[in-house]
Amino acid sequence: MELRVPTADCDRLDRFFAHLRAAADAVLLLDYDGTLAPFRVERGEARPYVGVAERLADVPRTRLVLVSGRPALDVRALLGVEPAPEIWGVHGLERAYPDGRLEREALSTAALEALDLAERWGRAHLAPGRVERKAGAVALHFRGLSARETARVTAEAEAALADLGRPLLRWTRFDAGMELRSTRVDKGTAVARVLADMPRAAAAYLGDDETDEDAFAAIGETGLSALVRPEPRPSRAQVWLRPPEALLAFLDRWRDARATVPR
Ligand SMILES: [Mg+2]
Repeated sequence: MELRVPTADCDRLDRFFAHLRAAADAVLLLDYDGTLAPFRVERGEARPYVGVAERLADVPRTRLVLVSGRPALDVRALLGVEPAPEIWGVHGLERAYPDGRLEREALSTAALEALDLAERWGRAHLAPGRVERKAGAVALHFRGLSARETARVTAEAEAALADLGRPLLRWTRFDAGMELRSTRVDKGTAVARVLADMPRAAAAYLGDDETDEDAFAAIGETGLSALVRPEPRPSRAQVWLRPPEALLAFLDRWRDARATVPR
């Protein structure tokens, strides 16, 4: 699929919200970092934009789903929405239900050993806060490094670790780092599993990063895919929303559309 730079396409948004107002079921899927929360060098301090948590606590007649590369319970704690929504973590390897249950797909011993090796390499070459070991992935975070340092560390990691864990695992790039994770799941498979439960629902996915492109593809042409970033970039997303203003306006419009759905 060809990538294009999405715009704040009002006609497309109008058409989607008309569809949303008339739909019996609706699902709103949201990435967390960069989409609902601005980036922070200290990842544990990445809180949502002002106004996001209140809005997500009140989304009428909608299945609300977060889809993140972070562990699901990290997202729950940072988001601060009660009751917590459904959260798919580690790119869909984990699923936290609103009632607190957590499901996680098990990885093989070989995959876990490869993750151990990647983690050890990271700890030997990077500051401790830059290595994140998750239940099914290892992320190396470069945010705050100069472009030159980032290029140097990336090249070193690729030279040392490129073939690690294949074909069970693969390296993917995100906005400020790289991650070794399962080839079985990505944000697109997570979105597809949610949509399989409710194939006729009006659905939208909001995301910012390379890893969200799989989810934009999974939403397809029948739903709405929105790139949420200060500046747009080439993407599969249909529209662009500049955070926080256009994001908050989108959430308000969603609430108003679903609040008036005839029962
Ligand atoms: Mg993101």
